Amino acid sequence: MIYLDNSATTRIDESVVEAMLPWLRENYGNASSIYQLGRQARVAIEYAREEIASLIGAHPAELIFTSGGTESNNTVLKSCTAESNLCDEVLYSAIEHHAVIYPAKELSSQKIRTFPLSVDNQGILNLEEFAQKKTTKQTLVSVMHANNETGMIQPLEKIRAIAPDALIHTDAVQSFGKIPVNMYEFGVDFASFSAHKIHGPKGVGALFIRKGIDFKAHQQGGGQERNRRAGTESPALIVGFQVAARQAIREVASRTEAMKSAVALLRELLVQTIPSIRINTTLEHSLPNILNISFLDAEMIDGEAILQSLDIYGIAASNGSACVSGSLQPSHVLSAMGRSDAEAKAAVRFSVSKDTTELDVRRAANVLAEVMTALRQ
Ligand code: PLP
Repeated sequence: MIYLDNSATTRIDESVVEAMLPWLRENYGNASSIYQLGRQARVAIEYAREEIASLIGAHPAELIFTSGGTESNNTVLKSCTAESNLCDEVLYSAIEHHAVIYPAKELSSQKIRTFPLSVDNQGILNLEEFAQKKTTKQTLVSVMHANNETGMIQPLEKIRAIAPDALIHTDAVQSFGKIPVNMYEFGVDFASFSAHKIHGPKGVGALFIRKGIDFKAHQQGGGQERNRRAGTESPALIVGFQVAARQAIREVASRTEAMKSAVALLRELLVQTIPSIRINTTLEHSLPNILNISFLDAEMIDGEAILQSLDIYGIAASNGSACVSGSLQPSHVLSAMGRSDAEAKAAVRFSVSKDTTELDVRRAANVLAEVMTALRQ
């Protein structure tokens, strides 16, 4: 199988597995215990926190470990309640991951004003609308650093410049390890991370919470993570995340170059061989690893059949369309970018990784060209 769905998840690196194993086999202590076995786990977790914090330009006390991007996003959005003094309105981009959109929608039933912000046809946030819609001092704005379907990067510094007093949350799940991510340069207050997008283990991630923010945990129980996320930490997952993050940042230049050339070749081959193709990923403002395409004659094409046919030929790719009750829904991201329902349904997202080869790319492009010819007949 040729795996071109690395935005969904990546293959865990062997070195990451090796680093995790002792924390599953021998060092099985609970980091909250006071005896030696527990203290070893605590030291490992705090060392991981220090290293990951330094990789994102944060202080270790500003980072809590979570189960991943979904939990980190939910935690931020759900901390904005009528009772908390944190915020009284929530603005979010219409292209956010559902782990932001769904909790934001739920807030609107709790007397918090919520508003989805539009994007332009390239998928970049409408900054003028943001400036207009921000009405109070206590605004929480959630805008992802880079989109998981198109790879498009959002102008976080400009958002901060427009709203110096807003609380800004960014979902950095897709961008971390691919492009520079620095909390203080961005000027954000919250940021979400996930290990399994950077060749780390699934089920672990982090949430950056800027120092000084009066943040109340929504998950209560033990006093873990400085009372901000109750629950026994997993040293194995956290160490796995640490090693994956260290390697991603250490190798960022070579990985980026490899991913960029794979995507450039894919783009060139697809444009050459497939008629009526639309590229939804603008080169200058996107991650190095994602290429999203749709088709101008989408009304004539069965969106589901594209991915199914690719799968039959051994190509794993995806699109952002959710499958509801057995049928494919249009991607909310492409719809927000102004694409028709048919086009937002019949799209393909290829996402490469450091491990993708030129042969993988050539084979995928050939197969898609054949599949499209067959589906158009
Ligand atoms: N945010 C973005 C942009 C994502 O792409 C994903 C996963 O696909 C998530 C959040 C959810 O992260 P996790 O799978 O770690 O819960």
